[in-house]
Amino acid sequence: MSEKKSKGQELQKELSYKKRNYYETADKAEKKAIFDYAEGYKNFLDAAKTEREACDFAVSLAKERGFTEYCFGDALTAGDKKYFVNRGKSVVVFRVGTKNIEEDGLRIIASHIDAPRIDIKQNPLYEDSGMAFFKTHYYGGIKKYQWTAIPLALHGVIVLKDGTKRTLRVGESPKDPVFYINDLLPHLGGEQMSGNAGKLIQGEQLNVVVGGMPYDDKEVSDKIKLGVLALLNKQYGICEEDLLSAELSAVPAYPARDIGFDRALIGAYGHDDRVCAYPALTAVLDNESEHTVLAMLVDKEEIGSEGTTGIQCKVYEDLMEEIALALGANFRKVRAASKCLSSDVTAAYDPNFASVYEPMNSAMLSCGTAMCKFTGARGKSGSNDANAEFVGEVRRMFAENDVVWQTAELGKVDAGGGGTVAKFMAQLNIDTVDLGVPVISMHAPWELVSKADVYSNYKAFLAFMK
Ligand code: MN
Ligand code: MN
Repeated sequence: MSEKKSKGQELQKELSYKKRNYYETADKAEKKAIFDYAEGYKNFLDAAKTEREACDFAVSLAKERGFTEYCFGDALTAGDKKYFVNRGKSVVVFRVGTKNIEEDGLRIIASHIDAPRIDIKQNPLYEDSGMAFFKTHYYGGIKKYQWTAIPLALHGVIVLKDGTKRTLRVGESPKDPVFYINDLLPHLGGEQMSGNAGKLIQGEQLNVVVGGMPYDDKEVSDKIKLGVLALLNKQYGICEEDLLSAELSAVPAYPARDIGFDRALIGAYGHDDRVCAYPALTAVLDNESEHTVLAMLVDKEEIGSEGTTGIQCKVYEDLMEEIALALGANFRKVRAASKCLSSDVTAAYDPNFASVYEPMNSAMLSCGTAMCKFTGARGKSGSNDANAEFVGEVRRMFAENDVVWQTAELGKVDAGGGGTVAKFMAQLNIDTVDLGVPVISMHAPWELVSKADVYSNYKAFLAFMK
C-alpha cells in the first residue's frame, strides 16, 4: 500500500534533479552485466601496464574480432573494421559506417593508455653499500613518497645498436623477482616527517633496487653491478651501453583486485586512463554502428599529449583526413560534422578529503560515468568548455539508452585543476566533451574505481555509437 504523495512532493519529484547510484537502480541482470564486464577489464589491466602493452593488447583483441591493419592510402568501404598503429605506443581502432561522413562526421572516443610511473634513466646502473640500483626519472604527476616500499615490476624495451628490440617484463608472475624503492625508517625519520610532503622523497632518491649479489671475482670492483650486468647479458644479450637506447619503466607489481566485502570496487594500477580506454576499445570492437566510429588509444597524455605518440601529433589528424579521402569526402566537412567524447577520468568525491571538493558538482562513486563540460584550472584556464548544445545532444543520447551518468568538476573552483585531450580535439573543429570514470586516489600506485561506473562508461559509448 503506497501513501498518497502531497502536491509539493509530486512537484518536487517532477521538477528536481537528483543523481542516481547505479547499483541502487540496477536490477539483477544489470548487476550481473556490471560484474561480468569488470572481469574483462581486470584482465586488460594486468596484461597492459604500459602504453606499448596496451597497444599490443588492443591489436590482438582487434585481430580476434576480425579487424585488419590499416595503412595510409588504403581503400576503405562501409563495413570495414580496421586498426591503425602508431609506433607501437598508440592505436586507433575504427569501423567504417554506412552513413555519409560529410553529413554525419566521425564519432570519436579519445582516451589514453599511458599512466604515471617511474621511468629508468638512460645511464641508470650503479652500486652502493651492498645494493645495485637503477636511477630513475618519474613520468607524470605523482606523489613521490607513494612509490617507495612497494613491489615494482620492470616493463619496457631495449633497442640494440643494430636495431634489434628486446622486450623486458619482470615482476608480474608470482615466480618473478620484483624491484623496490627504499624509504626511511620512522625511527630516523623525524626530520623527514617534519618537512613538506612534496619533499619527503626527492626525485633523485627514487632509485630502484635491482640487485645485491656480488660477482664472484676478487679482481674486479663494482661486483654487484657486474653481477646484474652479467645476468642482463645472459637473459637479454645486452651490455650496459644498450641501456642508453632503452625505454624501461617501473610500475606497481601487483594485479588488479576486487575491493570490499561486496566486491563493488576495483583496485588497480593505472585506472587513469585504461578505465576509459578499455570501454572505448570494446565498444568499437564488439558493436556495429551505422556511424564511422573511432576508438583512439593515445600516449603521452600524462605529460601534456606531446611527442609523436601524443594526441597533439598530426598523425591522428592525418588518419582522419585519410579516412575522408578514402571515402571520397571533403575533410573539412567531415571534421565539422564530427563529434568526440574525450574520455578521461575525473576525481571521485572523497569524504576523507571533503575540504577540496564541492559535493553538488563532484562525481560521486557508483553514480555513473561523469561528464565534465569543462576542466582546467582557476577561471577554466586550459579548458575545452563544451557547448551547451553539444552537452544537450549527448545528454539526449544517454537518456534514450538508459545510461546512468552524472556531471562533474574535478574539485573546488580554486583547489587545483587538470586537463585532458579534449582541447586538442576541439582545435580540429570537432565538438568535444569530457566523459569518464570517477577515480579515488588518482595517480597513486593503486587507484580505486567502481565497477558500476566502468560499465556505465561502456554503455555511454554504446549510446554515442548508436
Ligand atoms: Mn587521464
Ligand atoms: Mn592522469
